[in-house]
Amino acid sequence: MALPRPRSVFQRIPAYRAGKPAHSDAYKLSSNENPFPPLPSVLERASDELARMNRYPDAGMTALYRSLSERLDVDEDQLAGGTGSVGVLFTLLAAFCEAGDEVVYPWRSFEAYPIAVDLAGATGVPVPLRDDATHDLDAMADAITEATRVVLVCTPNNPTGPVVTRDELAAFLTRVPSDVLVVVDEAYVEFVRRPDAARGLDVLPGRNNVVVLRTFSKAYGLAGLRIGYLVGPPAIATVVRTATPPFAVTDIAIAAAVASLNAVDELEQRVEAVVSERESMVDALRSGGWDVPDTQTNFVWLPLGSDALDFAAQCAPVSVRAFDGDGVRVTVGEPAINAEFLDAAARWRAAR
Ligand SMILES: *Cc1c(COP(=O)(O)O)cnc(C)c1O
Repeated sequence: MALPRPRSVFQRIPAYRAGKPAHSDAYKLSSNENPFPPLPSVLERASDELARMNRYPDAGMTALYRSLSERLDVDEDQLAGGTGSVGVLFTLLAAFCEAGDEVVYPWRSFEAYPIAVDLAGATGVPVPLRDDATHDLDAMADAITEATRVVLVCTPNNPTGPVVTRDELAAFLTRVPSDVLVVVDEAYVEFVRRPDAARGLDVLPGRNNVVVLRTFSKAYGLAGLRIGYLVGPPAIATVVRTATPPFAVTDIAIAAAVASLNAVDELEQRVEAVVSERESMVDALRSGGWDVPDTQTNFVWLPLGSDALDFAAQCAPVSVRAFDGDGVRVTVGEPAINAEFLDAAARWRAAR
């Protein structure tokens, strides 16, 4: 008897593997979450909205767009919100790719990329990172063909940490044809401290083929509420708005996001604490002999190769993210837990 059958691509789409749950949230250094609990002002606004859950959300996301447009100094029609920037990315690729179109992206990079590409019916063209775990933008530009519709740039890169520099991005953009869409994924931009880092918003003016993805999940600690957005040319933002399922983003998420934008100073203090903890972790690891690429994010990358899974197992009860055969990504968490991780890492090295 014939059965309902999904598109053939489902035979090869890898499942997204989320960070392993730990025995308590604090021990979960595997999902790049923010270790701080919600700010009281943010929690209060979200709770107010929770109490009117019998109502549909504002499908026009007006409050979000108004607030972001002021904060980022862009027009409201340059914005498109979604259920996390992952939600926006899936929508964007589905909207811009036909079957057989190519999407160029760096690898290793964000695990959701190949899934989003496959689901859109497109063909992924992964381009290996350089030895220092940075994007090889020359090779990515070389990989663009007649069939390329989209190029993904992840800066700073998940899971390795380094940024694309301003000069590298500028040089790259001169090589990209005007009908190829460049997506600059800035999920960790708030953690960037390098002055020479590329800033997606700086390259938007005068370009019709570049968009920036941002999220409230990481620096602003709203991962559980699912809200992120795109900034770009109005024509592209309009397509993404049209392609997003109506009412995808809740009023709870919108209220929390707007309250976060109103509490940016407090949130930035927390980001600063994470950045300084990150620097201590990198220093401790490097002086312990580890080869850690520059990180401008809320995580560190250990290029462990074939030892990745073994190392991750030795870190228990701290939960870290292992990529088999490649490396281990460790989120900057609460200082006490980071210290436990550093001890485990030192023990692992000593035992070799
Ligand atoms: C976490 C992350 C995102 C966004 O996550 P959302 O929670 O969906 O907003 C996007 N890109 C990268 C590279 C990430 O690491």
